[in-house]
Amino acid sequence: MNSSLEKKALDFCIKNKHRYTKPRESVLRIIASSNKPIKAYDVLKHLKKVLKNPKPPTAYRAIEFWEKYNFIHRIDSLNAYFVCEAEHLHSGSQFLICNQCGEVTESHICEIPKIIKKKIEKNIFSAKSWNLEVKGICSKCF
Ligand SMILES: [Zn+2]
Ligand SMILES: [Zn+2]
Repeated sequence: MNSSLEKKALDFCIKNKHRYTKPRESVLRIIASSNKPIKAYDVLKHLKKVLKNPKPPTAYRAIEFWEKYNFIHRIDSLNAYFVCEAEHLHSGSQFLICNQCGEVTESHICEIPKIIKKKIEKNIFSAKSWNLEVKGICSKCF
């Protein structure tokens, strides 16, 4: 994991009085060092190499923690997690997913597209989170 992410995570925890526990630190590092979305099960597998006998809930709770605060995003269609590439917190997430090599790129729309927003407002629906996934072929796989 690059040290700036580590620093950002640590600063965030101090500022908001969250504990920067070993499992949290390790889980974020594992997800950040994976170049593809990683499933919770695989995070646990890696965690076993750095922590002594971690229980599955330990890994899952740490994943939940970082997801809640937008350090990582869940990619629903893959049931996997990916580190957030944005330098700021944002509520929605948007990804371009390559069908061939599995590479994922976060696109920084950061806001719900207007056309969807309009629909939501018309229906007096209160949106809490959103996730946009675009599948295709990346430039390396053309
Ligand atoms: Zn993000
Ligand atoms: Zn590709």
